Amino acid sequence: MFTVQCNNVVKVIDTTKNTYSCPRGCGPLKYGRDLNFLKKMNRCNKCKGIMLTEDEVKKWETGRMGPTKNKNNNLLGLLKSGSNGALDCPKCSRKMKEIPLKYKKTRFMSRQEDMMMDPGKHVLEFTPIIGELIRMVQTTVDLAGDLSQGKIDKSVTIDGCDACFTLWLDKGEILQVMKNDLKVDSSRVKHSSEAAVANKKKNKKL
Ligand SMILES: [Zn+2]
Ligand SMILES: [Zn+2]
Repeated sequence: MFTVQCNNVVKVIDTTKNTYSCPRGCGPLKYGRDLNFLKKMNRCNKCKGIMLTEDEVKKWETGRMGPTKNKNNNLLGLLKSGSNGALDCPKCSRKMKEIPLKYKKTRFMSRQEDMMMDPGKHVLEFTPIIGELIRMVQTTVDLAGDLSQGKIDKSVTIDGCDACFTLWLDKGEILQVMKNDLKVDSSRVKHSSEAAVANKKKNKKL
């Protein structure tokens, strides 16, 4: 009896806080300052994903959010190019769209981006002397590649809700979205019939 009452109390507190839940299933999102952008936003401490509301995306695209001005991106406009994804919108619970995007990047900048996105993977590169050597060799190879072959194609897939215009960015994706000129990668857009087939297959496996 007592336990039941305790549970009820916890539930009541949860709803009054009006928190959003992580679409990756980690639990409630925390509203707090993001170190990269010095702005408060809903984020998941577990999977490091970030939720952006329509208002936040607009502020951000007009350059009033974060230190880097987002060039020509129109993320909310790109939402209609997406196909049905797997995640539920943290705000209105509808299924979000997956939007495959692409951009060009030099090898050198691409590596910087990878390191920012996942510093844990690059521990060795931050070690004095050894890291210095690795970086020197990599930089030389990267710059040579940039000169002879030009920029490389990079891709990122973001999730967004076309009903309430909420975007969900997984760990590190905000760096890719924020600092690059994004275009819809039409070669990776799933046609709705293909998506339906893919979903059926998924359901069968479950
Ligand atoms: Zn999460
Ligand atoms: Zn929504």
